[in-house]
Amino acid sequence: MENLNVMLVSGSSRDNDRFQRMLFRAGIRNIRHCGHIREAEQQLLREPVDLLVCDIQMPDGGGAELIAKVYAGVRRGELADTPMLLWQSAAGKLLQESHVRLAREAGFNYVWVTHPSMDDGECALFLRQVELAREAMAEAARVNGVPGRLGTRPFSEQEVIEALCSKGNISIDLQPQVRLRDGAVVGAEALARCMHPTRGNIRPSVFLPVVSKLGLDLLLFFHVLSGVIATQQALNEQGVRLPISINASAATLASPNLVREITMRWDKTKLARSLLVIELTENIEPEIGLDLMVALNQLRANGFDIACDDYGIGISSLKMLSAMPFSSLKLDQLFVASMLESSRHYEIVRSSILLGKELNLQVIAEGVESARHVKALREMGCETGQGFGLYRPMAPSRYIELARRAPVEWDARSPDS
Ligand code: C2E
Ligand code: CA
Ligand code: CA
Repeated sequence: MENLNVMLVSGSSRDNDRFQRMLFRAGIRNIRHCGHIREAEQQLLREPVDLLVCDIQMPDGGGAELIAKVYAGVRRGELADTPMLLWQSAAGKLLQESHVRLAREAGFNYVWVTHPSMDDGECALFLRQVELAREAMAEAARVNGVPGRLGTRPFSEQEVIEALCSKGNISIDLQPQVRLRDGAVVGAEALARCMHPTRGNIRPSVFLPVVSKLGLDLLLFFHVLSGVIATQQALNEQGVRLPISINASAATLASPNLVREITMRWDKTKLARSLLVIELTENIEPEIGLDLMVALNQLRANGFDIACDDYGIGISSLKMLSAMPFSSLKLDQLFVASMLESSRHYEIVRSSILLGKELNLQVIAEGVESARHVKALREMGCETGQGFGLYRPMAPSRYIELARRAPVEWDARSPDS
């Protein structure tokens, strides 16, 4: 804990001092404090921290504003990661809960709330949770390649370009999709990975915008498709036939001749077209262009499946759902991961599953983070799940092994634990 970097953001210097003394007694020495949001933002960008302790109510705008600034900093690649967050507030439960939701939506994976009069005993308990969170992040970094050590220097655009241009540095991971009833692996999603020659993995949220800026979306798409084709051929040799999905933005899908090119490359494999799924993915809402509609209809007519990705956020509106010939619906992890703590999110997940079923779509819940999620989703009638509580994204060689012998591994765990 001695190496934990903390920033206290509070309008009250008395609260700041009290909290600082308490952390000091717990052995934490690297503590900074700020009395203003703007100052906190500038300091965070200069020197990131592991733990942010922030007042919900601040004199210059409120802690929510700082969350938005951190979110923007991460998206621009100026911050390597979001810190853990402890909200401090004497406000009512409703406001506290909505601030927790807000932070989760902004990508904060570890969020807690406390009242300003936290004592040493509560502080010790809280720091234990922080320790557990750090262990989980270190494990995620080990298994998944995400930068788990907070406070690492963000990648510069030049470094991302270096990584993209180095031979063999773009690869794919596959994240299994699981039939929730019995744990059988029923498919996978291909996720692009980019490795910097000296600094390790770069997150998709950092390298994908650079790919787009350089106009390389199509190149990346076909690179991922090649990885998927190679995996499907290896699986086919083992007698395993399970679909794999590829992410594609609306702009990629609307490129001229794309469907013809996909179909031609796929047909060379002599594999069934139903083994390839295209996920329509994007964070910003585009016009539902005619080109996109044409591409999706052609893909479907050619026998490929199409998934509506990130349902509930961004592009995947009801308008999209009614206009496009989707075969499956992927419920965004934002709602699924937090549905056990938020009754609103629970209801959104439940009603989206019903809607998907009514529309004859296969519903895949993303963000299945624990056995409790599996249990709740099963009760809601959701048949398929994807998430860290089932399987993390893995190298194709591991996926091939898993797909050969599943569902044995998953079944060993109790869905009620
Ligand atoms: P996505 O399509 O929603 O992919 C799922 C993301 O959620 C992956 O992050 C995956 O590692 C993560 N994830 C899976 N299970 C859980 C869980 O239980 N909890 C949480 N918190 N997260 C989970 P990743 O690999 O960082 O990818 C991020 C996004 O980057 C993807 O989101 C997708 O939008 C985009 N992306 C990835 N590969 C490609 C690609 O080849 N092309 C395009 N256009 N976009 C891609
Ligand atoms: Ca996806
Ligand atoms: Ca998704």
